[in-house]
Amino acid sequence: STYREMLKRGEKFLSEACREEAATDSWLLFSWLLEMNRAEYIVKERERPSEKELRTYQSLLERRASHIPLQYIIGEQEFMGLSFLVNEHVLIPRMDTEILVETALPYVSEKSVLDLCTGSGCIAVSLSVLGNPDFCLATDISEQALEIARKNAERNQAEVSFLKSDLFGKISGTFDIIVSNPPYISTEIVEGLMEEVRDHEPRLALDGGEDGLIFYHRIILEGKGFLKPQGWLFFEIGYDQGEAVTGMLQAAGFINIVCKKDYAGFDRVVFGQNGGI
Ligand code: GLN
Repeated sequence: STYREMLKRGEKFLSEACREEAATDSWLLFSWLLEMNRAEYIVKERERPSEKELRTYQSLLERRASHIPLQYIIGEQEFMGLSFLVNEHVLIPRMDTEILVETALPYVSEKSVLDLCTGSGCIAVSLSVLGNPDFCLATDISEQALEIARKNAERNQAEVSFLKSDLFGKISGTFDIIVSNPPYISTEIVEGLMEEVRDHEPRLALDGGEDGLIFYHRIILEGKGFLKPQGWLFFEIGYDQGEAVTGMLQAAGFINIVCKKDYAGFDRVVFGQNGGI
């Protein structure tokens, strides 16, 4: 058999396993395993794969067919044009979250930045690489997530400090900018998510409590003491949380509150300025 046949069989296998993205995923696993881009594939498609290549490809396909997200299989996801390592201890960075980073970027130059619930570190690392902050601290409650986040900082030559902390628990000092994409899916909704997310992404990174808003309440309430007067707080939010989170910021005395939409037209980012003196 040839590489061409190997790839065709891969696509067939995934489509029979009801994978919607069968063509894309079979190619991505193939090109990752064989380190072949499209041009190299066209040169080599009539050559013969080794037994080992065939076997390894089959095992990758089987893992994907069992709903393991592609990014956990290949261990990587691109975000803000940078490459991030991922495993089952961190949420896979989402395109939606790029909107949060793009919104906060113009504010971070020469400022102190705190990223809560950093997960893979995608927010802190990209703000640090692209935004020239004075200082960037990132926290997570999960030591296993921080292990990945530290590697991602190193991989992208970002100067970020990491701390294991339950939100502000272990933090001292005040910051110009606080940014967070906390878990914001309500417990009930988590159960109905696609298998890839529900069974493979960390529940800890998804579940925002009964109403999905628990982390916004905590961060706004506890965060007052950690945000400089006139400092800015940036949140990613769920599509139906714009009004609720805006209301919480207003009630806490924030000013200049803005809600931004994602590319699908849903509320995705809320930010505001500390009204304190
Ligand atoms: N900050 C990380 C991200 O945006 C993790 C978010 C989370 O775990 N809720 O991908």
